[in-house]
Amino acid sequence: MTLDAVSNDPSRAQSDPTPADLPTHTVRQGETLSTIARDYAVSLQAMRDANPDILNPDVVYPDQRIALPEGAVSRAPALVDPEGPTPRLSLDARGPVVADLQQGLERGGYAPGVIDGIFGSQTDAAVRAFQGDRGLEVDGIVGPKTWGELGRVATASPGPVAPVTGEPADVTDPLTAQRIQGLHPEVRATAAAFVNRVEQELGITLRVSDGFRTFAEQDTLYTQGRTAPGPVVTHARGGQSYHNYGLAFDVVQLLPNGGVSWDLDWNAVGRIGQDLGLEWGGTWTRPVDRPHFQMDFGLSTTQLQQRLNGGQTQDGFVNVR
Ligand SMILES: [Zn+2]
Repeated sequence: MTLDAVSNDPSRAQSDPTPADLPTHTVRQGETLSTIARDYAVSLQAMRDANPDILNPDVVYPDQRIALPEGAVSRAPALVDPEGPTPRLSLDARGPVVADLQQGLERGGYAPGVIDGIFGSQTDAAVRAFQGDRGLEVDGIVGPKTWGELGRVATASPGPVAPVTGEPADVTDPLTAQRIQGLHPEVRATAAAFVNRVEQELGITLRVSDGFRTFAEQDTLYTQGRTAPGPVVTHARGGQSYHNYGLAFDVVQLLPNGGVSWDLDWNAVGRIGQDLGLEWGGTWTRPVDRPHFQMDFGLSTTQLQQRLNGGQTQDGFVNVR
């Protein structure tokens, strides 16, 4: 995370140029006097009093300049381009776009905790409070509507906004799409977004070589290099690998001729995975496992196994929330 770069960006620090003695607001498409009043944290009556010439508060026009009453808190431009991508964020999302969200919440008066690019419980609480105050569905999910509302209270966020979700069906390689579909439901969208972004940004088509693995398959794999021929490929027995819960997957480059290669820029691939909130095996030393990506939701494999044994499952996958 480059939080310093985010918070020191001069375009974020711009103060509103509206003169303090005569604040005005330029109406944007879709606004009414009511939404403007709400966005400036003043009452509708105060807005009407300041604009006696506006007879119908629901009829204002784009680019019309209207007066703001005393006490109106000036807002800066939108956090995200309303026409641009609106990444769907929820608990456990990570990345620069989460830091943008947190800054937007903080500037709107909703304390998200440390601005660290991690959508944790405090950020979740702030999002829910914000959604409640804005009359949105209080679900803790930052989708287009919540982004739209946030755009009115947040500072500009220059630069591209990375998508953090995707659909397995969007993936180029059918086998990869199929294997992503076999992962834990909470991991699928991130896995698909990861494969798509690697293709877009690096021109590397990834194949998921290994996704969900049953305990039996894991045990069989464990024997390899021990009691069965071949090299040792895993240190985990059945239940000890995140693969056994559909929370991990391994990737390899799919070549145009249909072959595969492990000779690729793993650091660039790993960085994109981390950016999307995946834990990358390339950062491990026990041992390093560069093709491996996972999401553990703060749970150890022992905890996952306990949940599984306790029947805390849905559609065959352990509950991770
Ligand atoms: Zn793996």
